[in-house]
Amino acid sequence: MADVHNPIVRSYNMSQIKGKDTAPELRVRSWLFSHGYRYRKNDKRLPGKPDIVLPKYKTVIFVHGCFWHRHGCKYTTMPKTRTEFWETKFSRNVERDQEHVRALEAAGWHVIIVWECEINAKLFEITMHRVQNELEKTLVNKGELL
Ligand SMILES: [Zn+2]
Repeated sequence: MADVHNPIVRSYNMSQIKGKDTAPELRVRSWLFSHGYRYRKNDKRLPGKPDIVLPKYKTVIFVHGCFWHRHGCKYTTMPKTRTEFWETKFSRNVERDQEHVRALEAAGWHVIIVWECEINAKLFEITMHRVQNELEKTLVNKGELL
């Protein structure tokens, strides 16, 4: 009989991957990289520690989970228990996000939000073209493409 290992090691590895770099973030980053964009990750010096920072474009990208950041789409569900606790937590998340955007914009950064639900197979290319357009526009605004 063959010595077959159970999949515990694999699921352990998967659990280690989760948390810091989420799958949607990785997807956006690898698209950007393969299209020639260079970026920094999770820059702690900037408000909100943006997931992706593109210094050349003076742009930051947040890849937001719809549930935690309250996108308002069908994934923005409300837990059925401890509703008050969750409402407080969510509104704090949203306020914090808004504060970060304000602070970044005040410092001259262009802020792009990419929502998790926009990164599924159907919408991914459309979403990334929107991101690309916004990035190129920042160069036009700086006069670098004229
Ligand atoms: Zn969403």
